Amino acid sequence: MSTKDYLEKDYYKTLGVPKTAKTADIKKAYRDLARKYHPDANRGNADAEERFKEITEAYNVLSDEKQRKEYDEARSMFGGGFRVPTGSRGGGAGGGFGTNFDLGDLFGGEGLGDVLGGIFRGRGGTTSTRARRGADVETETTLSFGDSIDGATVSLRLTGEGPCSVCHGTGAKAGTVPKVCPDCHGTGHQSRNAGGFGLSEPCPTCRGRGLVVEDPCPSCSGSGRAMSSRTIPVRIPAGVADGQRVKIPGKGAPGEHGGKAGDLYVRVHVQPHSVFGRSGENLTVTVPMTLSELALGAEIKVPTHRGAEVTLRIPPGTQNGQVFRVPGRGVRRKDGTLGALLVTVNVAVPRDLNNKARSALEDFRMATAGDDPRADLLRRARES
Ligand SMILES: [Zn+2]
Ligand SMILES: [Zn+2]
Repeated sequence: MSTKDYLEKDYYKTLGVPKTAKTADIKKAYRDLARKYHPDANRGNADAEERFKEITEAYNVLSDEKQRKEYDEARSMFGGGFRVPTGSRGGGAGGGFGTNFDLGDLFGGEGLGDVLGGIFRGRGGTTSTRARRGADVETETTLSFGDSIDGATVSLRLTGEGPCSVCHGTGAKAGTVPKVCPDCHGTGHQSRNAGGFGLSEPCPTCRGRGLVVEDPCPSCSGSGRAMSSRTIPVRIPAGVADGQRVKIPGKGAPGEHGGKAGDLYVRVHVQPHSVFGRSGENLTVTVPMTLSELALGAEIKVPTHRGAEVTLRIPPGTQNGQVFRVPGRGVRRKDGTLGALLVTVNVAVPRDLNNKARSALEDFRMATAGDDPRADLLRRARES
């Protein structure tokens, strides 16, 4: 117990007893208050837990004759109700030593306000009750190609840490209660002397919680935390791409002590489609065509994603691999408009020919015998 705790905290007031109270009265006052603020009687109530810590801390000091004497002496020397100015040097003309005590002088420097503010946190400022934003949670889901284009609502099972359901987060075995940490006296932090002034760090004994458990809850081994899972529906927007991370605000881990929930990030995997592919906001499809269709031109039917087939006019002399654009048949953009379907034509060479086809192709070869499609290539290669 440090002197500053003695200066800041009025243990008599905390227990509601006069400074002259006898040990028996202190005991009785503590028993009554402890019953009222007992964590078992106030499950999930952080204020009650904080209050329970305070009265137990007060009782620990005042019930010990030696500590009570030190406490009384410290307060009579510096005066009760002492408050540390944070951020600036304390001003104000005051009475004697004790009411005009300035820590800026004590530590001989300026700009120590932040450091001191860390050490001299008020009793409401202990780590365990500050509003804390919940953690961000990352998970993944796999969508069919169609759902990734149209958007889908998926059920996601999220596993996260929360209060143990057996001990309601106290960490103590049923019928027992956590005790105020003897090393930090419930503050959850300890001061360490570093280069002439104190630094505050989380108490290693209770890991900042301010409470220690003697009979641990068998379910959570005294941590008060347990893994639990929940299933939530999540809307994945239309047009999500494979590998994309979708942010769902406020669906991460719940906050503590009134803090906001974290965000949920869903990594989306998209199963490939047997017909369609994706290129940014466009869908792609490869359409087989015969040599004669490409050479002579044709009207062909092309499939679209979840829609009717469309007719595409292929002009005579179309080259293998040429791409045609069908507007409005692609992926939905953020503004609601649609990308295009990109149709790539791909010549299908017949594996088996009937006699008539073979003879027609042989005639075709004869008719085009003078045309060497490689003549230009070979000429340019020779000239280079
Ligand atoms: Zn437990
Ligand atoms: Zn501690």
